[in-house]
Amino acid sequence: MTREKIVEGYRKGIVVLHGLIAHGRGEAFDYLLGEKTHGFADYAEKIVASYLVVSNRPIISVNGNYAALAPDEIAELSRVSGAYVEVNLFHRTEERIARIYEFLREHGVERILPPSCEKTYVPGLESKRGIVCREGIALADFVLLAIEDGDRTEALVGWGKKVAAIDLNPFSRTAQKATVTVVDDAIRATRNIIRYVEGLRGNREEAMRLIAGYDNKLVLKQAFKALLDRLEFAVSRGVL
Ligand code: ATP
Repeated sequence: MTREKIVEGYRKGIVVLHGLIAHGRGEAFDYLLGEKTHGFADYAEKIVASYLVVSNRPIISVNGNYAALAPDEIAELSRVSGAYVEVNLFHRTEERIARIYEFLREHGVERILPPSCEKTYVPGLESKRGIVCREGIALADFVLLAIEDGDRTEALVGWGKKVAAIDLNPFSRTAQKATVTVVDDAIRATRNIIRYVEGLRGNREEAMRLIAGYDNKLVLKQAFKALLDRLEFAVSRGVL
């Protein structure tokens, strides 16, 4: 069903060919991780929710794959957190931006920067890949992104943003550079973040406390350990 969503997204002109390849990479890591949310990912999801609750200008950055996979979840997360959505594409064309914008609106996303927003560049990314909305990502203090490229993640962190990345590959540069790395599938992760936002939105202090105690390196180490444990188990048994 998930694969169908991506293929359908490709047919609608929301997902590009590179997105299909990226999806396959994600599926492979999800397979290795046992296609479930591990404790370390669940914890990182709670931290993402905490950032959404305490940030002054949180933004959910959405690309073609994320839109195709989780439009209803993105709408719900934006609604419960009050965060604006910005369509932000690595392989940017104004036509695809407009298509994804319309698709998300149809799925109930109300807080969303329009394709006509005033633009600026992410410092260090002065090409089409670095175009963002002035009132959106440029002014944001926290950016949640999923299935994202490493250069762009690194540039946002270098710009002083707190960045949370949903990425099934803990080796990727995005996973390595983000402030908070959620090694989980984008759909499962977004659903869990929604649940945590609902629990934390009346409790800013608790959210602040959680952020203060968070160590992303530790979470990444636990993700690598989970991969290792599953492989060790398979090696010892010859089966999983
Ligand atoms: P980087 O540039 O960060 O080193 P990359 O070259 O793999 O990594 P992209 O192809 O832009 O960059 O990133 C896509 C990332 O998203 C991959 O790491 C892939 O594992 C991950 N991914 C793909 N599908 C999903 C999904 N459904 N949920 C979460 N992560 C996913």
